[in-house]
Amino acid sequence: MRWKEKRKIEKFIETIAFSAIKRFYPTAVAKHTGIPVDEVFQLLLEMCESGQLKLVWEVRCPGYNCARTLVTFTTKENPPVEYFCSTCGENIEIDNSNIFPAFEVAEEFRDYIREESKKKNLLRLRVVLLTWLAPLSLLALWVSVFLQV
Ligand SMILES: [Zn+2]
Repeated sequence: MRWKEKRKIEKFIETIAFSAIKRFYPTAVAKHTGIPVDEVFQLLLEMCESGQLKLVWEVRCPGYNCARTLVTFTTKENPPVEYFCSTCGENIEIDNSNIFPAFEVAEEFRDYIREESKKKNLLRLRVVLLTWLAPLSLLALWVSVFLQV
């Protein structure tokens, strides 16, 4: 994936990190960015590995007009086999057709994004100062060489 596509996805996730949204789906990211969902999914998985996101499996009720999220589990746990939907009053057998991947912004990353934006203006000033000061320090070096300070 090229940097532009990657940046689009990262921006979307940063926006989510600022919002009250707890969980999001790869399809939402694909729709927003116009990037194919399988490519989006791949990058989101990479972001899980680097600790920015968490993958959560949602079990949804297949009942007509229900689609309620019954239970969630992570890959570390064993997936449930059966779950009772109180809306439909039925036991739901869980298989691949009613398990959906969703992502959560990892708490540490969310805090970091929020903290980072507070520091952004300060960082800008620091970068400007450093780029100005860099030639100065080189000059200072030359001066010190010539004067043998
Ligand atoms: Zn149901």
